[in-house]
Amino acid sequence: MITHQHFINGESVDGISGKFSDVYNPSLGEVSGQVPLADASEVDSAVAAAVAAFPAWSALNPQVRARVMFNFKDLLEQHKTELAELLSSEHGKVIDDAHGELQRGIDVVEFACGIPHLLKGEYSVGAGPEIDMYSMRQPLGVVAGITPFNFPGMIPMWMFPVATACGNTFVLKPAEKDPGVPHRLAELFVEAGAPAGVLNVINGVKTAVDAILDHPDIGAISFVGSSDIAQYVYGRGTGNGKRVQAMGGAKNHAIVMPDANLDQAAADIIGAAYGSAGERCMAISVAAAVGEGTADALIEKLLPQISALKVGASNDPDADYGPVVTAEHKQRICDYIALGVEEGAELVVDGRDLVLPDYDKGFFIGPTLFDNVTAGMRSYQDEIFGPVLQIVRCDTLNEGLELASQHQYGNGVAIFTGNGKAAREFAVRADIGMVGINVPIPVPLAYHSFGGWKRSAFGGFNQHGTEGVRFYTKLKTVTQRWPDGAAGTADFSLPVLK
Ligand code: NAD
Repeated sequence: MITHQHFINGESVDGISGKFSDVYNPSLGEVSGQVPLADASEVDSAVAAAVAAFPAWSALNPQVRARVMFNFKDLLEQHKTELAELLSSEHGKVIDDAHGELQRGIDVVEFACGIPHLLKGEYSVGAGPEIDMYSMRQPLGVVAGITPFNFPGMIPMWMFPVATACGNTFVLKPAEKDPGVPHRLAELFVEAGAPAGVLNVINGVKTAVDAILDHPDIGAISFVGSSDIAQYVYGRGTGNGKRVQAMGGAKNHAIVMPDANLDQAAADIIGAAYGSAGERCMAISVAAAVGEGTADALIEKLLPQISALKVGASNDPDADYGPVVTAEHKQRICDYIALGVEEGAELVVDGRDLVLPDYDKGFFIGPTLFDNVTAGMRSYQDEIFGPVLQIVRCDTLNEGLELASQHQYGNGVAIFTGNGKAAREFAVRADIGMVGINVPIPVPLAYHSFGGWKRSAFGGFNQHGTEGVRFYTKLKTVTQRWPDGAAGTADFSLPVLK
């Protein structure tokens, strides 16, 4: 049994609140460790370390900070297998998927290596008589990140490499369900050359989050998690005068047109719906089949692939996906499946009874498929966050477009079609932040920016890419004049160019 620790001022430290939460191995269904839940005084210590580290770190030449990112990227690559195994054992995603997640995080570190280029300001010589004007991007100070359980490696790396490369110091509050990887990332960051206090990791849940939201020394907060908590974090954080970006839940639709390559669409939807047991904010959870016969043809292609899926322990190299994260989450997903049946949807494949003989206590759910789902059903409106795919039958593209656009969430959407004109119009009109055209999980690369719309994101900034740099910096514009020494005269009107 592991007792996890916080990471403050370059060192692992024990929790002192006396409160702990269990960490599970979801494949075994057994407790593997305990994570301390910080109280406000422990958050204070982490913030104090970040405050102390800020002056020297922010004063460094950005290229020197970037060198730490280069070293960090090397270390992450050297330790990828170890990190993937740790991630998989606490989260439940299969090892290949854990490698993919870590690579997406490493991509952001790679992006952060080039951040000095994005910190350059603009300069206008001769903006007025003897006047030059220039701008600079300055760090905010101490910033905090609060991250969800489903990407314990990638999502922290959406945040702290960008923030610290911009000159900020960071307090990370990772999800309490899988704290191992975030802690290891902090150790490797110090090994890469980051001074103590530049990145601190504090474990906890509401008490720790509230202490972050109210802390006077924290300038900005980046949150990723479920929508109700995202909205809470956004409201309380901005109410305290902080800059906040808060990403929330999702319900991503795949619109399948009658002219789509159905073999491709079916294979893509299987991977996007059931990969990582559906615990991805960009998972496809609804397939909107457009036109007569499309839903039946799609189901015919999905069914054999669903039967061939292998659900297994997260370290089983042959498994397509592993368990969900906790027994409570499994129960919640099963309750939604029951609700779907109660609401009148047709349960085509029921994954609730899956038991793996060698892992009979593991939190497994088989792939589940519903047909004839309608927009009024609560099981359609809510995010289920499990291996459940719901098919909605639509008559026209417009109907499919409106279905997806009117959903409360607006994270991602995909259209499968052979018609470029329809796809183009769909991409322009969809009221959703990330669109895939014959691409099931349109997650932007590190040098683009990730973010949804509506209840999938609160606040105006996306994650990573140039949007990330804007979020973690503030723009200052300087107007300078070096007059030749002649006496000036007072001017009482607003200065304008003549
Ligand atoms: P969650 O909202 O339960 O937890 C997110 C963070 O908030 C964690 O650090 C957690 O400790 C903390 N937290 C939990 N309860 C809290 C409370 N009452 N007050 C303050 N903080 C609290 O989310 P989760 O279950 O860890 O993650 C899954 C959710 O995250 C899904 O809804 C998923 O769609 C969403 N998600 C969204 C994105 C995105 O970019 N839009 C990406 C990944 C995950």
